Amino acid sequence: MPETIRRQSSPNHGTRRSGPIDILLLHYTAMDDAEKACQWLCDPHSEVSAHYLVDEAGAVTQMVDEDRRAWHAGAAFWDGERDINSRSIGIEIHNGGPKSATPEFPGAQIDAVIELAKGILSRHLIPPTRVLAHSDVSPGRKIDPGPYFPWGRLAAAGIGLWPDPPDPGGDEGMGPGASGKSVLGLQRRLGAFGYRITPSGTYDDRTQGVVSAFQLHFRPLLVNGRADRSTLDALENLLVQSGKAEAP
Ligand SMILES: [Zn+2]
Repeated sequence: MPETIRRQSSPNHGTRRSGPIDILLLHYTAMDDAEKACQWLCDPHSEVSAHYLVDEAGAVTQMVDEDRRAWHAGAAFWDGERDINSRSIGIEIHNGGPKSATPEFPGAQIDAVIELAKGILSRHLIPPTRVLAHSDVSPGRKIDPGPYFPWGRLAAAGIGLWPDPPDPGGDEGMGPGASGKSVLGLQRRLGAFGYRITPSGTYDDRTQGVVSAFQLHFRPLLVNGRADRSTLDALENLLVQSGKAEAP
């Protein structure tokens, strides 16, 4: 572990209830001050925490030991698991969010996230398919770390998957109101990848929310909840990369 990690203990943690630790979950703070975010995550009244906080300059603070269950995911689901806090290491990345004055993540901050994540991946068996956004495990409820987060940079450093999505091509794709086999196939593929979705054959609110979550992480150029060609190609690419593509 790098010596540069500062310690500020949070009381907000408990015993892990299930294992192993096999998810890395990334968040943004959505606050305007990293110090305030740190105080909030260490305040017993907040009942929230994360293992690490990375400020905009790249300084890392550890608040919870990795073997403890930090409280960052809330109601969540991935690939059959609901207790994401028990299975994950959580990193809060200081950022005001997509509507703030500076929604981009500074390079030094991302460098620090990459170094920190590399250390975590060296200590726990976390497959690339389980390096996730909060929005992946809580679609419709959470959007962090948002469309500005440079997942491609992380993947280039060996952290998580990146489908190198084709640009949105202007096709409408499927959306609310659609139904039938193509919708069913989309829902099954999103579910196979890990998202919580019920294959109903109807493009319902949940489907739109999950497609938006998928786009936030893997095709952030256009987040509209519609399954256009570029979104479908990105999903297919990820299923192949993760060995979950259906046999022809
Ligand atoms: Zn979050």
